[in-house]
Amino acid sequence: MAEAGGNYDLVVIGGGINGAGIARDAAGRGLSVLLVEKNDLASATSSWSSKLIHGGLRYLEQYEFRLVAEALAEREILLNIAPHLVKPMRFVMPHVPELRPRWMIRTGLFLYDHLGRRATAAGPRDSLLAGSHGISLRQPPFNAGLKPELSHGFIYSDCRVDDARLVLTNALSAAEWGAAILVRTECIAGKRIDGGWELRLRANTGKETAVTARAIVNASGPWVKQTLNERLRQPSGDNVRLVKGSHIVVPRLYPGEHAFILQNDDRRVVFMIPYQGSYTLVGTTDIPVSAAAEIPQASVEEIEYLCRAVNRYLQQPVVPQDVLWSYAGVRPLYDDGSANPSAVTRDYTLRLDDDAGSAPVLSVFGGKITTYRKLAEHVLEKLAPWFPDMKSAWTDTSPLPGGEPATETELSAAWQTLPPAVIDAIVNRHGSRISHVLLNVKSAADLGTDFGGNLYAREIDYMIEHEWAQTGDDVLYRRSKAGLHMTASQRQAVDSYVAARVGGVEQNHGMR
Ligand SMILES: Cc1cc2nc3c(=O)[nH]c(=O)nc-3n(C[C@H](O)[C@H](O)[C@H](O)COP(=O)(O)OP(=O)(O)OC[C@H]3O[C@@H](n4cnc5c(N)ncnc54)[C@H](O)[C@@H]3O)c2cc1C
Repeated sequence: MAEAGGNYDLVVIGGGINGAGIARDAAGRGLSVLLVEKNDLASATSSWSSKLIHGGLRYLEQYEFRLVAEALAEREILLNIAPHLVKPMRFVMPHVPELRPRWMIRTGLFLYDHLGRRATAAGPRDSLLAGSHGISLRQPPFNAGLKPELSHGFIYSDCRVDDARLVLTNALSAAEWGAAILVRTECIAGKRIDGGWELRLRANTGKETAVTARAIVNASGPWVKQTLNERLRQPSGDNVRLVKGSHIVVPRLYPGEHAFILQNDDRRVVFMIPYQGSYTLVGTTDIPVSAAAEIPQASVEEIEYLCRAVNRYLQQPVVPQDVLWSYAGVRPLYDDGSANPSAVTRDYTLRLDDDAGSAPVLSVFGGKITTYRKLAEHVLEKLAPWFPDMKSAWTDTSPLPGGEPATETELSAAWQTLPPAVIDAIVNRHGSRISHVLLNVKSAADLGTDFGGNLYAREIDYMIEHEWAQTGDDVLYRRSKAGLHMTASQRQAVDSYVAARVGGVEQNHGMR
């Protein structure tokens, strides 16, 4: 028998970027919100991305002008509301005449710049980012690492993002607006009751709870169809196309802070992106899969494909043995009937099922990290008839936690005694909330155990107490990427520390 767990206006199923963004927006508009995530926040597709906030230059070839214009506008908004997580980046595209003619790339980049300028939220104005132009690949810094026969290229702007922390930051904001956030809690069943829904939730401890909601958002990512058809028992003709994409992380392949967008001979593009200081991130692939694995893996063939794609351009070839880390994610795309997985629309589709006027469930298919905020606004527009007193849209100018302008604090003098690399790491993760992480820290001794990778006990405690971290991986690969810079025994020490702390720390999930 499930215990009663509370009554909400809105229950959001899924703590990826879309679920967290919707929960934040709804809570800020005055709805009582519960977000349930069966694993950790951002533990699925939203932390396995290419980590770009981008318009998607390649989508212009597929005539996805709506998506590109919206994504470019969102790029500007996210730069403003989360400057600690979203950073401008220049992208270099070497020109290979036999793949795409120069006029075609120039036209695409002209459109990209132009759509970006026109589409800013505040109306027509210049982008915050530098525009595109042609460059010589024979001059530093762009020649470094490339084959000498590559002479000409193009440069344009997009942004990189800490994808997992963007999810977390949205969940933090939702909680600050009063939302309850339940991690490691799965929605196992739901049914319509008088005027709403009753949902059964099961925590990973086995404990079951029943909650009610006036509306549900199904933001289960790759599990969207399973949640809709099997858990909520809603028949639906909409299908999801699951397309796996893999990345490899290798020792840094070239100096400089720019990324490369490399055309491949199958008409796809592959990115090489500076990553975590000493690495280069290479991705991605498009492999259709029939079911979403809990932890998808990059296959040997995908790793070889990525090495081949970059070796067309690199002077020193990369081989699979150079790969230090790889990861894969599954795109939950809306099935538009395209035969080619690379051509399936990356735009999102929102499906509202209200069974002839009864309590609604809205399902999210597809989407990009880049467009999550606008997607959330569209979701709430669709749910507005059920919540006539709900406040209007508000997230376009409101900073995410840590994105608020930094204020001088009395602590900053004390921080000067801390290692600068540690301060940088904390600022990159928490932005202006560094003052919360380092509250009362007066010297390096107050940081507690040094676990390596610029991660100290103090920050781990903060992640456990305020950011829902419960395992070593939550800390090492989502709330930070410190795991990439540690030895196996250092990672093991973090696992043990988190396990011991989680047992003894009171975590406030805000559940009613
Ligand atoms: C390889 C790759 C590269 C990408 N690169 C980019 C990029 O650079 N830029 C960009 O903008 N976009 C990118 N994307 C797209 C972007 O990552 C996805 O569109 C986005 O992360 C999807 O978010 P989501 O919240 O819908 O799904 P998810 O992040 O998958 O979240 C869904 C969550 O629901 C939970 N869940 C499922 N069922 C239940 C249940 N019954 N109860 C409770 N919880 C449940 C899951 O555990 C999961 O955490 C990329 C995608 C891939 C795969």
